[in-house]
Amino acid sequence: MKAVDYLFPPPPAASLAIDGSAQRFPVHRIYCVGRNFAEHAREMGAEVDRGTPVFFAKPADAVVVDGAPTPYPPGTTDLHHEVELVVALGSDAPTGVLDPSTALDLVFGYTVGLDLTRRDLQARAKAKGLPWDIAKGFDASAPLAALLPRARAGDPEDRRLWLEVNGELRQAAALDGMVWDVPAILHELSKLFRLRAGDLVFMGTPAGVAALAPGDRFRAGIDGWTQFEGVIEG
Ligand code: MN
Repeated sequence: MKAVDYLFPPPPAASLAIDGSAQRFPVHRIYCVGRNFAEHAREMGAEVDRGTPVFFAKPADAVVVDGAPTPYPPGTTDLHHEVELVVALGSDAPTGVLDPSTALDLVFGYTVGLDLTRRDLQARAKAKGLPWDIAKGFDASAPLAALLPRARAGDPEDRRLWLEVNGELRQAAALDGMVWDVPAILHELSKLFRLRAGDLVFMGTPAGVAALAPGDRFRAGIDGWTQFEGVIEG
């Protein structure tokens, strides 16, 4: 097969480490769910609309992996943490709408990550009815731990998700408190997009979102599963 004659070398695929494996998980797309914990929706001045989940996206190369430092982004004075369960798909969905009863068959594994947010830019976008891209989809906006294979870990059920900043607990909640669980979210996403192997889904954050400053050290985890730490550089 003839190699493609690219104008310049294509960028390497963004990828995550897999716990217990030398293989890497190549990232295709990053979907995110908004307002999936009622308490967090309220602290943002919104109510959960049980009819329609809020979706947005980040570029695949927004991931920060393998303990790399997270740079404080430009264009904001109010960078917020949102700790979240992250779902990783290991196979392509069939065409059409995914049945919730078979949706988990697509899941390769789970991990924990931060949906970093330029809260000041998001507030301005909300006020004007503008898109959230510049608030959510910036460079290095998705620090993540290694993936835990579902074959070994099972499903999240009522596990506790948490985040500490400089040793102080900022966010904690049981994952069975999500308004839409993983099968429901994959079902809803499949009405809008063809889900593919390599897709990540950030499942939404519980209450307690707050600002991060340059030099802050964070530690995030899901009890009994995984944790990781990082630093905001600036
Ligand atoms: Mn979020």
